[in-house]
Amino acid sequence: MSNSQTVFTPPATPLVPVEGRAEQFPVRRILCVGRNYAAHRAEMGGDERDPPFFFTKPADAVVPPGGAVPYPSRTSDLHHEIELVVALKSGGADIPVDKALDAIFGYAVGVDLTRRDLQNAAKAKGQPWDAGKAFDHSAPISAIRPAAQIPGGPPPQGRIHITVNGAVRQDGQVADMIWNVPEIVAEASKLWTLAAGDLIFTGTPEGVAALQRGDKVEGFVEGVGSLSFTVG
Ligand code: MN
Repeated sequence: MSNSQTVFTPPATPLVPVEGRAEQFPVRRILCVGRNYAAHRAEMGGDERDPPFFFTKPADAVVPPGGAVPYPSRTSDLHHEIELVVALKSGGADIPVDKALDAIFGYAVGVDLTRRDLQNAAKAKGQPWDAGKAFDHSAPISAIRPAAQIPGGPPPQGRIHITVNGAVRQDGQVADMIWNVPEIVAEASKLWTLAAGDLIFTGTPEGVAALQRGDKVEGFVEGVGSLSFTVG
């Protein structure tokens, strides 16, 4: 018996397709930025002096394009948060802002699905957000567009919006982020040693709202792409 054997088959690494490539992007872990757009921070009841912050989702919360997004258990207030996602090809600790773009493989469109009722209950009790944020299938994502293919050069700066059954729900500009993409990578690397395979959801503009079973969700980030799923 080799000591390299495991007591059961290790879980598969979650994979996200890459535009124009046969090879897929293996996901190591998922960091998310909270309250990174001023108007969303205000709608969540945040103080304008509060800086953005991070929370996490497990890597296997990712739903690649075409994957099922079931309505989750234990909630009656499932919210959409449309977000630009950064996909890392390298990492490290204490990455300087002016080196941060060098660590980025590409960009994707993601939705940070949120059990808002559970998140709000946790906030009220000073409890962790995991049940509200880090549940199964909570991170639908588009294919990743390599950074070199971002029109105008990375990082993306344009419109970010989401429609539900064809109606626009959130409509913002990536350029309005409080921490921009290089600052997010630099800040995250002060707290964690980043590595290839890390995804960072960069926060959502205002207009978050509830989804119902059967809703068709389409998300867009200008220059990056789009994603589409139906809430099962
Ligand atoms: Mn979010």
